[in-house]
Amino acid sequence: MARAMPRDYYEVLGVTREAGEADIKKAFRRLARELHPDVNDHDPAAEEKFKEAAEAYEVLSDPERRSIYDRYGHEGLTSGGYAPSFEGFGSFSDIFDAFFGGDVFGFGGRSGGAMQGGDVAVTAEVELADVAAGTSVEVAFDAVQGCEHCKGNGAEPGTPIETCPRCEGSGQLRTVSRTPFGQMVRAVVCDACAGEGKIAREPCRECRGRGRIARRRKLKIDVPEGIEDGQRIRLSGRGHVGERGGPPGDLYVLVHVRQDERFVRDGQDLVTAVDVPAPAAALGTRVEVPTLDGATEIELPAGVQPGYTVTLRGRGLPPLRRGPTGDLRVIVNVVIPRRLSEEQRELLERLHGTLTEDNLRSEEGVFARLRRVLRA
Ligand SMILES: [Zn+2]
Ligand SMILES: [Zn+2]
Repeated sequence: MARAMPRDYYEVLGVTREAGEADIKKAFRRLARELHPDVNDHDPAAEEKFKEAAEAYEVLSDPERRSIYDRYGHEGLTSGGYAPSFEGFGSFSDIFDAFFGGDVFGFGGRSGGAMQGGDVAVTAEVELADVAAGTSVEVAFDAVQGCEHCKGNGAEPGTPIETCPRCEGSGQLRTVSRTPFGQMVRAVVCDACAGEGKIAREPCRECRGRGRIARRRKLKIDVPEGIEDGQRIRLSGRGHVGERGGPPGDLYVLVHVRQDERFVRDGQDLVTAVDVPAPAAALGTRVEVPTLDGATEIELPAGVQPGYTVTLRGRGLPPLRRGPTGDLRVIVNVVIPRRLSEEQRELLERLHGTLTEDNLRSEEGVFARLRRVLRA
């Protein structure tokens, strides 16, 4: 299958042609975090972007492929028989797992290197009116941070930190096992020092020697106008602190927009209903309707029918990104009087007796009327 010519790999990763191995790894990891399928579940473009980045990484992280690419470009690679290794994988998540073994944020973490802190998710509730104006809310969440008591080194202040006797400071243990294919040497993280290579003689009593501790944190979050119920706001670097010098994770705020019983939201439009007594509908009337910034009055013509809609332009919600502000649609609900008194019954009977064909004839056909009522 012919593939479109890929973009320049250096450009994809956002690195210079002189970038070292570490820079390339860092750039790819940053992109991968941004494009993670858990975060970009509904974005097919993210998958394409990730594939593009993964292909660029596959080539630039391999010295041999990189030098071919530098000299001969994409064509040099394809004529040399190179194809991205993730072609033919099923889902976006599968491709991720193929690259990261299901542990995107743990590059090198298993061998005791720097590890990025985990992400934190928290929910925030806002009112519908806040969606119109934008607002800020305070969220509280537990995040792992460096322990202040021991300054993160895990030792009770004033007590020594010693080289781990189990791994002799390497942070790793080598296990040798015999297999049908010969001897296999595996390195695993030292279980005594958790890969640190050092051990506190007297562990910090605040964090029990971990150097990190979960604390309640409060943060004021700006919620942009136009936000939808269920949208997430990402605050980079506000998650759990990293390990062994790794960067912190991110904070995701899931925004829940509280229902406002006066309105139904339809995208950026708001819909509301007003009750109009049948006699007032026949005579024509002014009614009060709610809007997000206070009540306003609208005029209804004589003979207004159930389902009649008045559109107040620009009185809905602002767009999250670009585009016009939504409208407020007011739907007329004609209320037929119930539990009539003797006098009311007489009046209505007299009125009913005077009604002619002309009073009841609609200007529109039966289908147009049905459509109007059903739409409401
Ligand atoms: Zn501590
Ligand atoms: Zn150790």
